[in-house]
Amino acid sequence: MLNKDLLQMETKDVYASVMEKVNAFKRENPQAKIISLGIGDVSKPIIRPIIEAMHQAVEDLASMDTFKGYGGYYGYDFLREAILKNEYQKYGITKDEIYVSDGTKTDSTSILELFDKDSTILLGNPTYPIYRDGAAALSRKVEYTTVDEDFVMQIPDKKYDIVYICSPNNPVGNAYSKKDLAKWIDYALKNKAVIVFDNVYQGFVRSKDVPNSIYEIEGAKNCAIEMRSFSKVASFTGLRCSYYVVPEQICKGINVLWKRRTMNRFNGASYVAQKAAEAVYLPESQKLIKENIDYYLENARILKEGFEKAGYKVFGGKDAPFMWVKSKDQKTGWQMFDYYLNKLNIIVIPGIIFGSQGDNYVRISALGQREEGIECIERILKDEEEN
Ligand SMILES: *Cc1c(COP(=O)(O)O)cnc(C)c1O
Repeated sequence: MLNKDLLQMETKDVYASVMEKVNAFKRENPQAKIISLGIGDVSKPIIRPIIEAMHQAVEDLASMDTFKGYGGYYGYDFLREAILKNEYQKYGITKDEIYVSDGTKTDSTSILELFDKDSTILLGNPTYPIYRDGAAALSRKVEYTTVDEDFVMQIPDKKYDIVYICSPNNPVGNAYSKKDLAKWIDYALKNKAVIVFDNVYQGFVRSKDVPNSIYEIEGAKNCAIEMRSFSKVASFTGLRCSYYVVPEQICKGINVLWKRRTMNRFNGASYVAQKAAEAVYLPESQKLIKENIDYYLENARILKEGFEKAGYKVFGGKDAPFMWVKSKDQKTGWQMFDYYLNKLNIIVIPGIIFGSQGDNYVRISALGQREEGIECIERILKDEEEN
């Protein structure tokens, strides 16, 4: 008997139809130069100081004195201490509350194992689809709240046990201000809810009113789990290393329970990846990482300006590498996708993948290469002129 709940996962179907259409087009038009504005992966390689740290880590594994086998379940102390010192000490978080893992995709779903099966789960619409399908795979039910005109999730008038907030946001590309988050903290405290705060795009934050961590907001340590990853900020999408914080103040004993679970379900991220992650905090790494992120944000600025010039309404792109583009002329996201693929040879992602409210939007990404983004804008503006 197979798990019927796995059939509830929606993303595979929709994403598969995007790839099907792209591949069919490629077969019929092998000479077309297709550019993807759809990618959710980074294009910049890993910076040198991190590569050097990995070379050293690999050598460690080659010698009897420095060899590492199984690491700790929650991450090596050297990395947890670096994360603590550089990111979380200032908020009064302790090392015991920090967990190192191999990716926020995994963490954002598996954290549900910490909570009762009957917990009610609230997501935004649109949402990062992994929360929805991850919950489905664990036989958990989710409900949705609408977003306001700035795509900030609206506070519901009933109680939920778990609320997912992604900021800076994928797919919309906006980021929640301290004021927006304070309202959610207030809701969580009043309703004894837990906020799962996905902050993997933290390094892209440039606006002054957007917090670097949810723990900047009073009361957050009583109700929020924060997740971060080295994937998008330091090009670890292939290397794999992430971390998250479970504050003891949420509920006394929560870490004893979660450590017991994690010891059972996880054998840690690799030593080499954790050594690489430690090197992220070197001053020269921080400088190079900021340059890479500035490059993506400049891509975003160029793409946003271009789409606006072509008459589109564009959200996001200021504190995140994504933009949410409203289709024109009563087209759906799928119709815009078809037109862009067939006429302009540009791939965009239909917003419906991220929820029913995304039907008239597409997501575009600034994580690609500058020249390709510029070429897309040229194609789009030329097409606008001709029509
Ligand atoms: C890319 C992404 C992740 C996955 O990060 P990994 O650490 O590579 O697993 C999680 N959340 C959001 C919103 C993302 O866009």
